Amino acid sequence: MQRQARSWQRSGVRVGFVPTMGYLHAGHLSLVRRARRAVGPRGKVVLSIYVNPAQFGPSEDFSRYPRDLARDLKLCRQAGVDVVFTPSDESIYPGKDRGIYSTYVVEEGLSKVMEGKSRPTHFRGVTTIVAKLFNVVLPTAAVFGAKDWQQAAVIRRMTLDLNFPVKIIVAPTLRERDELAMSSRNKYLEGDLRRQALALSQALRHVTRRVAGAKSGLAAAVLHREVAEIIGREPQARLDYVEFFDPDTLAALAQVARGTHMALAVVVGRTRLIDNARL
Ligand code: AMP
Repeated sequence: MQRQARSWQRSGVRVGFVPTMGYLHAGHLSLVRRARRAVGPRGKVVLSIYVNPAQFGPSEDFSRYPRDLARDLKLCRQAGVDVVFTPSDESIYPGKDRGIYSTYVVEEGLSKVMEGKSRPTHFRGVTTIVAKLFNVVLPTAAVFGAKDWQQAAVIRRMTLDLNFPVKIIVAPTLRERDELAMSSRNKYLEGDLRRQALALSQALRHVTRRVAGAKSGLAAAVLHREVAEIIGREPQARLDYVEFFDPDTLAALAQVARGTHMALAVVVGRTRLIDNARL
């Protein structure tokens, strides 16, 4: 992959990159279209599929994370992806099984809140894999989904801080018809859990309406209680967090108004789901 990327670079070919963990859905494919738009018909679009062990906690779903490479390859072909990059563990973490792999990339600010609080080693895994993939794929532009808002903010920060010559593009969240944000993990939602998962988008809609109808700012503490109430109505849903924050700095805000960003994480059954929106 790196040899190919260097050859493209020498001949001035632009490369648009979409990193994923596979089990692709329409949200991933919208990132592919965005990447194509960024590099044009003569550019190359690379999509990577790698379920990165370093971004999963010890009690998380790494081993059961859904995988279907044959289907993913077919979708990529149809979507006009030029190269699907599926690296091995040994090429990404050389010597890890012998305990000699020892280099990680850590972002120390934006990674500490929300997802970072609930999943303490998650962003260390994300920044490490994305930095490594940037060094291999040598992209001109890389596209990330707004679905993982904090992740996009952390990667933007890392790209600036480490002087990666990569343009970071954040593309909108794609949703199912009933507004559930698309996610590979939705596969886990069996039976009534699929319906209960709608509590996330309901909470976002509720707060968006509250903010739109308010003459001045609303107290985050009050909205927090209302969201907890909406999630609490579903028997198998548990609110992990809901935060109201500045969309760029991720700084928590006590007063919520139009333009404030909201993110939440909810465990539905055994599946942890996240969603966010600008209010
Ligand atoms: P994942 O395979 O879940 O690691 O996601 C790979 C990329 O797809 C990330 O940049 C995600 O933010 C993005 N993504 C995941 N779900 C969606 C969605 N529903 N809409 C848009 N982008 C998404």
